[in-house]
Amino acid sequence: MEIKIIKEKRKTISLKLLDSAHAVVKAPIRMSDAKINEFIAEKRNWLDKASAKLLARETFADEFDLLHFVYLDGKKQFKTEELAIDYNDFSPSKKNKTIMNFYLSKFEQLSSLVEDVSNKSGLVYRKLLPTNSVRVWGTYSSERVMKLNFKLVILPKELQYYVVVHELCHSLHFNHKPKFWASVEKLCPNYKELKKQLAAFSFVLKNRFV
Ligand SMILES: [Zn+2]
Repeated sequence: MEIKIIKEKRKTISLKLLDSAHAVVKAPIRMSDAKINEFIAEKRNWLDKASAKLLARETFADEFDLLHFVYLDGKKQFKTEELAIDYNDFSPSKKNKTIMNFYLSKFEQLSSLVEDVSNKSGLVYRKLLPTNSVRVWGTYSSERVMKLNFKLVILPKELQYYVVVHELCHSLHFNHKPKFWASVEKLCPNYKELKKQLAAFSFVLKNRFV
């Protein structure tokens, strides 16, 4: 996030988000930099959330339509009807199940990614299972069972990678303390940016296919 600071003749300080990556702060001429930074720090949470929302709109505008199209690795593949025709059934519930089964059938590509990252990093897991959660992209239990949301296959590959790295790093730290994030950063240096992008995809996570 790039924040431009403009000092001008005015009485109050203001903050405006221009797009997901740019914001502008307008401050009175005599206000100190420390005061301005304090103001920005206070607004940080709001700024991050608002920019994630904007990013979702910028990235997919109106065309990311899970009901009518099938996506893989963040790219549109074909119309959902083309899937349903194979099954000769157009009832909404059956259609959703068909779409879900299609995504589930692609779970194999997540398995290979997990195996690959695990081999290269030395981070271990015992078992990998798919989930259909509407709350989380992945989990890692103390029994070293990793669960990944099958809806991850819809997202761009770098976000799939981030989630896999995140969950595998839980094999070292069962928390989200600084040491955990340091281990994530080693394998995924731009994880902060990817975390934001992932937040913008919460509409995919919340989508229920059944
Ligand atoms: Zn975690």
